[in-house]
Amino acid sequence: MKALAFNEHGGIDKLRYQDVPDPDIGPDDVLVRVRACALNHLDLFVREGLPGFKLPLPFWSGCDIAGDVAQVGAAVKGVAVGDRVAVNPNLHCGRCEFCTNGEQSLCVSYGILGEHTQGGLAECVRVAADKVLRLPEHVKYEDAAAFILVNMTAWRMLVTQARLRAGEDLLIIGVGGGVSSTAVQIGKLCGARVWVTSSSDDKLARARELGADECVNHAREDWAKAVWERTAKRGVDVVLENVGASTWKGSIRALAKGGRLVTCGGTSGPICETDVRQVFWKQVSIIGSTMSNNAEFHDVMTQLFRGRLRAIVDSVMPLTDGALAQRRLAEGKQFGKIVLIP
Ligand SMILES: [Zn+2]
Repeated sequence: MKALAFNEHGGIDKLRYQDVPDPDIGPDDVLVRVRACALNHLDLFVREGLPGFKLPLPFWSGCDIAGDVAQVGAAVKGVAVGDRVAVNPNLHCGRCEFCTNGEQSLCVSYGILGEHTQGGLAECVRVAADKVLRLPEHVKYEDAAAFILVNMTAWRMLVTQARLRAGEDLLIIGVGGGVSSTAVQIGKLCGARVWVTSSSDDKLARARELGADECVNHAREDWAKAVWERTAKRGVDVVLENVGASTWKGSIRALAKGGRLVTCGGTSGPICETDVRQVFWKQVSIIGSTMSNNAEFHDVMTQLFRGRLRAIVDSVMPLTDGALAQRRLAEGKQFGKIVLIP
Protein backbone atom coordinates (compact mmCIF):
# COMPACT_ATOMS: atom_id res chain seq x y z
CA MET A 1 0.00 0.00 0.00
CA LYS A 2 0.94 3.67 -0.17
CA ALA A 3 1.74 5.80 2.88
CA LEU A 4 3.01 9.30 3.62
CA ALA A 5 6.11 7.99 5.39
CA PHE A 6 9.53 9.11 6.54
CA ASN A 7 12.65 6.93 6.42
CA GLU A 8 14.57 9.15 8.85
CA HIS A 9 13.50 11.82 11.32
CA GLY A 10 13.72 15.48 10.35
CA GLY A 11 11.93 18.25 8.49
CA ILE A 12 9.04 18.18 6.07
CA ASP A 13 11.50 17.30 3.27
CA LYS A 14 11.81 13.81 4.82
CA LEU A 15 8.21 12.93 3.93
CA ARG A 16 7.75 10.52 1.02
CA TYR A 17 4.55 9.21 -0.53
CA GLN A 18 5.87 5.69 -0.94
CA ASP A 19 5.12 1.96 -0.99
CA VAL A 20 5.15 0.31 2.43
CA PRO A 21 4.21 -3.23 3.53
CA ASP A 22 0.50 -3.95 3.95
CA PRO A 23 -0.42 -4.27 7.65
CA ASP A 24 -1.11 -7.77 9.04
CA ILE A 25 -4.03 -8.10 11.41
CA GLY A 26 -4.29 -10.33 14.48
CA PRO A 27 -7.40 -12.27 15.59
CA ASP A 28 -8.76 -9.32 17.60
CA ASP A 29 -8.00 -6.65 14.99
CA VAL A 30 -9.70 -5.15 11.99
CA LEU A 31 -8.12 -3.61 8.91
CA VAL A 32 -9.55 -0.19 8.15
CA ARG A 33 -9.42 1.26 4.65
CA VAL A 34 -8.65 4.91 5.45
CA ARG A 35 -11.07 7.41 3.88
CA ALA A 36 -9.91 10.46 5.84
CA CYS A 37 -7.13 11.21 8.33
CA ALA A 38 -6.76 14.59 10.06
CA LEU A 39 -3.41 16.11 11.03
CA ASN A 40 -2.32 16.99 14.57
CA HIS A 41 0.80 18.62 16.01
CA LEU A 42 1.68 15.07 17.05
CA ASP A 43 2.36 14.28 13.39
CA LEU A 44 4.99 17.01 13.31
CA PHE A 45 6.59 15.97 16.63
CA VAL A 46 6.75 12.31 15.58
CA ARG A 47 8.34 13.17 12.22
CA GLU A 48 10.89 15.47 13.87
CA GLY A 49 11.70 12.78 16.45
CA LEU A 50 11.13 12.82 20.19
CA PRO A 51 14.10 12.25 22.51
CA GLY A 52 14.21 8.70 23.87
CA PHE A 53 11.37 7.61 21.60
CA LYS A 54 12.40 4.93 19.08
CA LEU A 55 10.17 4.18 16.12
CA PRO A 56 10.47 1.52 13.44
CA LEU A 57 11.43 3.13 10.12
CA PRO A 58 9.91 3.79 7.70
CA PHE A 59 7.19 5.20 9.91
CA TRP A 60 3.94 6.95 9.12
CA SER A 61 1.81 8.76 11.67
CA GLY A 62 -1.88 9.72 11.67
CA CYS A 63 -4.11 9.50 14.77
CA ASP A 64 -7.47 10.83 13.52
CA ILE A 65 -8.94 8.17 11.30
CA ALA A 66 -12.26 7.41 9.64
CA GLY A 67 -12.78 4.73 7.03
CA ASP A 68 -14.34 1.42 6.07
CA VAL A 69 -13.66 -1.96 7.63
CA ALA A 70 -11.89 -4.00 4.94
CA GLN A 71 -11.02 -7.17 6.91
CA VAL A 72 -11.91 -8.59 10.33
CA GLY A 73 -9.81 -10.89 12.53
CA ALA A 74 -10.95 -14.44 13.31
CA ALA A 75 -12.08 -13.64 16.89
CA VAL A 76 -13.85 -10.35 16.13
CA LYS A 77 -17.57 -10.06 16.83
CA GLY A 78 -19.89 -7.15 16.17
CA VAL A 79 -17.85 -5.54 13.39
CA ALA A 80 -18.38 -6.42 9.74
CA VAL A 81 -16.55 -5.80 6.49
CA GLY A 82 -17.97 -2.64 4.94
CA ASP A 83 -18.85 -0.90 8.22
CA ARG A 84 -18.17 2.85 8.14
CA VAL A 85 -16.19 3.64 11.28
CA ALA A 86 -14.29 6.20 13.31
CA VAL A 87 -11.21 5.02 15.21
CA ASN A 88 -10.56 5.64 18.91
CA PRO A 89 -6.78 6.22 18.95
CA ASN A 90 -6.24 5.18 22.60
CA LEU A 91 -3.70 2.36 23.06
CA HIS A 92 -3.75 0.97 26.60
CA CYS A 93 -3.07 -2.26 28.49
CA GLY A 94 -6.55 -2.87 29.91
CA ARG A 95 -5.06 -4.37 33.12
CA CYS A 96 -3.32 -1.64 35.16
CA GLU A 97 -5.01 0.16 38.07
CA PHE A 98 -5.97 3.09 35.83
CA CYS A 99 -7.42 0.99 33.00
CA THR A 100 -9.34 -1.03 35.59
CA ASN A 101 -10.89 2.24 36.79
CA GLY A 102 -11.84 3.24 33.25
CA GLU A 103 -9.10 5.87 32.98
CA GLN A 104 -7.42 4.64 29.80
CA SER A 105 -5.48 7.85 29.09
CA LEU A 106 -3.75 7.39 32.48
CA CYS A 107 -2.66 3.83 31.58
CA VAL A 108 0.91 3.06 32.70
CA SER A 109 1.69 2.00 29.13
CA TYR A 110 -0.56 4.54 27.38
CA GLY A 111 0.05 5.26 23.74
CA ILE A 112 -1.69 6.79 20.75
CA LEU A 113 -2.37 5.01 17.48
CA GLY A 114 -0.34 6.86 14.86
CA GLU A 115 2.24 8.04 17.39
CA HIS A 116 3.33 4.81 19.07
CA THR A 117 2.24 2.56 16.20
CA GLN A 118 1.96 3.20 12.48
CA GLY A 119 -1.09 5.29 11.74
CA GLY A 120 -3.61 6.54 9.27
CA LEU A 121 -1.56 8.57 6.79
CA ALA A 122 -1.79 5.53 4.55
CA GLU A 123 -4.29 3.57 2.52
CA CYS A 124 -4.98 1.08 5.35
CA VAL A 125 -4.41 0.78 9.07
CA ARG A 126 -4.58 -2.05 11.61
CA VAL A 127 -6.87 -1.26 14.56
CA ALA A 128 -8.02 -3.29 17.60
CA ALA A 129 -11.64 -4.20 16.88
CA ASP A 130 -12.89 -2.67 20.16
CA LYS A 131 -11.56 0.71 19.01
CA VAL A 132 -13.84 1.20 16.02
CA LEU A 133 -17.12 3.05 16.41
CA ARG A 134 -19.73 2.80 13.70
CA LEU A 135 -20.53 6.08 11.95
CA PRO A 136 -24.15 7.04 11.27
CA GLU A 137 -24.88 7.46 7.55
CA HIS A 138 -25.19 11.25 7.78
CA VAL A 139 -21.68 11.75 9.22
CA LYS A 140 -19.00 12.29 6.57
CA TYR A 141 -15.60 10.62 6.87
CA GLU A 142 -13.73 13.93 6.78
CA ASP A 143 -15.91 15.40 9.54
CA ALA A 144 -15.44 12.33 11.74
CA ALA A 145 -11.66 12.35 11.24
CA ALA A 146 -11.45 16.09 11.92
CA PHE A 147 -13.48 15.68 15.09
CA ILE A 148 -11.97 12.80 17.05
CA LEU A 149 -8.71 13.74 18.78
CA VAL A 150 -9.28 17.41 19.52
CA ASN A 151 -12.78 16.80 20.83
CA MET A 152 -11.73 13.89 23.05
CA THR A 153 -9.10 16.24 24.44
CA ALA A 154 -11.19 19.39 24.83
CA TRP A 155 -14.19 17.48 26.25
CA ARG A 156 -12.11 15.86 28.99
CA MET A 157 -10.39 19.19 29.74
CA LEU A 158 -13.57 21.23 30.11
CA VAL A 159 -16.27 18.78 31.16
CA THR A 160 -14.36 16.28 33.32
CA GLN A 161 -11.22 18.02 34.54
CA ALA A 162 -12.23 21.69 34.86
CA ARG A 163 -15.92 20.89 35.57
CA LEU A 164 -17.02 23.93 33.59
CA ARG A 165 -20.53 25.00 34.62
CA ALA A 166 -23.28 27.16 33.14
CA GLY A 167 -22.79 30.84 33.82
CA GLU A 168 -19.01 30.60 34.28
CA ASP A 169 -16.41 32.49 32.27
CA LEU A 170 -14.09 30.36 30.12
CA LEU A 171 -10.96 31.86 28.56
CA ILE A 172 -9.40 30.02 25.60
CA ILE A 173 -5.81 30.99 24.84
CA GLY A 174 -4.78 31.15 21.17
CA VAL A 175 -7.94 30.23 19.34
CA GLY A 176 -7.24 28.68 15.94
CA GLY A 177 -5.67 25.38 16.88
CA GLY A 178 -7.82 22.29 16.82
CA VAL A 179 -8.38 21.93 20.57
CA SER A 180 -8.88 25.62 21.24
CA SER A 181 -11.31 26.20 18.35
CA THR A 182 -13.55 23.26 19.24
CA ALA A 183 -13.35 24.28 22.92
CA VAL A 184 -15.38 27.36 21.93
CA GLN A 185 -18.39 25.24 20.98
CA ILE A 186 -17.96 22.88 23.97
CA GLY A 187 -17.82 25.94 26.25
CA LYS A 188 -21.08 27.21 24.77
CA LEU A 189 -22.69 23.76 25.09
CA CYS A 190 -21.79 23.90 28.82
CA GLY A 191 -23.48 27.29 29.09
CA ALA A 192 -20.33 29.33 29.74
CA ARG A 193 -19.44 32.82 28.56
CA VAL A 194 -16.49 32.18 26.23
CA TRP A 195 -13.47 34.49 25.87
CA VAL A 196 -10.86 33.90 23.16
CA THR A 197 -7.48 35.38 22.32
CA SER A 198 -5.60 35.45 19.03
CA SER A 199 -3.24 37.73 17.13
CA SER A 200 -5.43 37.32 14.05
CA ASP A 201 -8.70 39.21 13.56
CA ASP A 202 -9.70 36.53 11.03
CA LYS A 203 -9.37 33.80 13.64
CA LEU A 204 -11.27 35.90 16.18
CA ALA A 205 -14.08 36.33 13.64
CA ARG A 206 -14.18 32.56 13.04
CA ALA A 207 -14.31 31.99 16.80
CA ARG A 208 -17.22 34.42 17.04
CA GLU A 209 -19.09 32.38 14.40
CA LEU A 210 -18.61 29.35 16.67
CA GLY A 211 -20.19 31.23 19.55
CA ALA A 212 -17.31 33.08 21.26
CA ASP A 213 -18.69 36.02 23.28
CA GLU A 214 -15.57 38.10 23.96
CA CYS A 215 -12.53 38.45 21.68
CA VAL A 216 -9.12 39.87 22.59
CA ASN A 217 -6.46 40.52 19.94
CA HIS A 218 -3.17 39.96 21.77
CA ALA A 219 -1.18 41.66 19.00
CA ARG A 220 -2.90 44.93 19.93
CA GLU A 221 -3.38 44.69 23.67
CA ASP A 222 -2.08 43.01 26.83
CA TRP A 223 -4.66 40.24 26.82
CA ALA A 224 -4.36 39.23 30.49
CA LYS A 225 -4.87 42.84 31.55
CA ALA A 226 -7.77 43.24 29.11
CA VAL A 227 -9.53 40.17 30.51
CA TRP A 228 -8.92 41.35 34.05
CA GLU A 229 -10.37 44.79 33.37
CA ARG A 230 -13.29 43.60 31.24
CA THR A 231 -14.35 41.20 34.04
CA ALA A 232 -14.35 44.13 36.52
CA LYS A 233 -11.12 42.78 38.10
CA ARG A 234 -12.70 39.43 38.89
CA GLY A 235 -10.96 37.22 36.31
CA VAL A 236 -12.31 34.07 34.65
CA ASP A 237 -13.34 30.78 36.22
CA VAL A 238 -11.53 28.51 33.77
CA VAL A 239 -8.56 29.02 31.44
CA LEU A 240 -7.88 26.48 28.70
CA GLU A 241 -4.15 26.47 27.87
CA ASN A 242 -2.08 24.67 25.29
CA VAL A 243 0.41 27.41 24.44
CA GLY A 244 2.66 27.12 27.49
CA ALA A 245 5.77 29.26 28.02
CA SER A 246 4.69 32.45 26.27
CA THR A 247 1.21 32.72 27.83
CA TRP A 248 1.41 30.85 31.15
CA LYS A 249 1.96 33.80 33.49
CA GLY A 250 -0.87 35.75 31.88
CA SER A 251 -3.15 32.72 32.10
CA ILE A 252 -2.65 32.44 35.85
CA ARG A 253 -3.06 36.20 36.21
CA ALA A 254 -6.39 36.07 34.34
CA LEU A 255 -7.88 33.48 36.75
CA ALA A 256 -10.54 34.47 39.26
CA LYS A 257 -10.21 33.39 42.88
CA GLY A 258 -10.86 29.67 43.03
CA GLY A 259 -10.32 29.43 39.25
CA ARG A 260 -9.03 26.42 37.33
CA LEU A 261 -6.34 26.39 34.68
CA VAL A 262 -6.44 23.27 32.53
CA THR A 263 -3.57 22.49 30.15
CA CYS A 264 -2.96 19.89 27.47
CA GLY A 265 0.24 21.20 25.93
CA GLY A 266 2.89 23.84 25.47
CA THR A 267 3.35 24.63 21.79
CA SER A 268 5.50 27.72 22.56
CA GLY A 269 7.72 25.81 25.03
CA PRO A 270 7.31 23.47 27.98
CA ILE A 271 9.04 25.35 30.81
CA CYS A 272 6.67 27.88 32.36
CA GLU A 273 7.16 30.38 35.18
CA THR A 274 4.58 30.33 37.99
CA ASP A 275 4.28 32.92 40.76
CA VAL A 276 3.27 30.61 43.59
CA ARG A 277 1.75 33.52 45.52
CA GLN A 278 -0.92 33.80 42.85
CA VAL A 279 -1.60 30.08 43.13
CA PHE A 280 -2.13 29.95 46.90
CA TRP A 281 -3.59 33.39 47.49
CA LYS A 282 -6.19 33.03 44.75
CA GLN A 283 -6.53 29.29 45.60
CA VAL A 284 -6.42 28.31 41.95
CA SER A 285 -6.06 24.78 40.57
CA ILE A 286 -3.63 23.83 37.82
CA ILE A 287 -4.90 20.72 36.09
CA GLY A 288 -3.21 18.59 33.43
CA SER A 289 -5.13 16.62 30.84
CA THR A 290 -4.26 14.28 27.98
CA MET A 291 -6.60 12.79 25.41
CA SER A 292 -9.60 11.10 27.08
CA ASN A 293 -10.83 7.82 28.44
CA ASN A 294 -12.98 5.53 26.29
CA ALA A 295 -16.24 6.66 27.92
CA GLU A 296 -15.47 10.31 27.14
CA PHE A 297 -14.62 9.32 23.55
CA HIS A 298 -18.08 7.79 23.19
CA ASP A 299 -19.78 10.74 24.91
CA VAL A 300 -18.20 13.33 22.65
CA MET A 301 -18.68 11.34 19.44
CA THR A 302 -22.37 11.13 20.35
CA GLN A 303 -22.45 14.95 20.42
CA LEU A 304 -21.18 14.92 16.82
CA PHE A 305 -23.67 12.30 15.71
CA ARG A 306 -26.56 14.28 17.24
CA GLY A 307 -25.41 17.53 15.71
CA ARG A 308 -24.77 19.29 19.04
CA LEU A 309 -21.08 19.72 18.18
CA ARG A 310 -19.66 19.95 14.69
CA ALA A 311 -16.35 19.25 13.02
CA ILE A 312 -14.29 22.36 12.31
CA VAL A 313 -12.53 21.67 9.03
CA ASP A 314 -9.89 24.08 7.75
CA SER A 315 -9.16 22.24 4.51
CA VAL A 316 -9.34 18.85 2.82
CA MET A 317 -6.35 17.78 0.71
CA PRO A 318 -5.17 14.59 -1.00
CA LEU A 319 -2.66 12.50 0.96
CA THR A 320 -0.21 13.00 -1.90
CA ASP A 321 -0.10 16.70 -0.82
CA GLY A 322 0.63 15.68 2.77
CA ALA A 323 3.89 17.64 2.91
CA LEU A 324 2.10 20.88 1.95
CA ALA A 325 -0.56 20.11 4.53
CA GLN A 326 2.02 19.60 7.29
CA ARG A 327 3.65 22.90 6.35
CA ARG A 328 0.32 24.71 6.69
CA LEU A 329 -0.11 23.23 10.17
CA ALA A 330 3.49 23.97 11.20
CA GLU A 331 3.05 27.61 10.17
CA GLY A 332 -0.19 27.92 12.16
CA LYS A 333 -2.16 29.14 9.14
CA GLN A 334 -5.13 26.87 9.75
CA PHE A 335 -8.36 27.39 11.64
CA GLY A 336 -9.58 23.98 12.72
CA LYS A 337 -8.44 20.73 11.17
CA ILE A 338 -6.56 19.86 8.02
CA VAL A 339 -7.84 16.55 6.63
CA LEU A 340 -6.00 14.27 4.19
CA ILE A 341 -7.73 11.85 1.84
CA PRO A 342 -5.74 8.79 0.67
ZN1 LIG B 1 -3.40 0.25 31.56
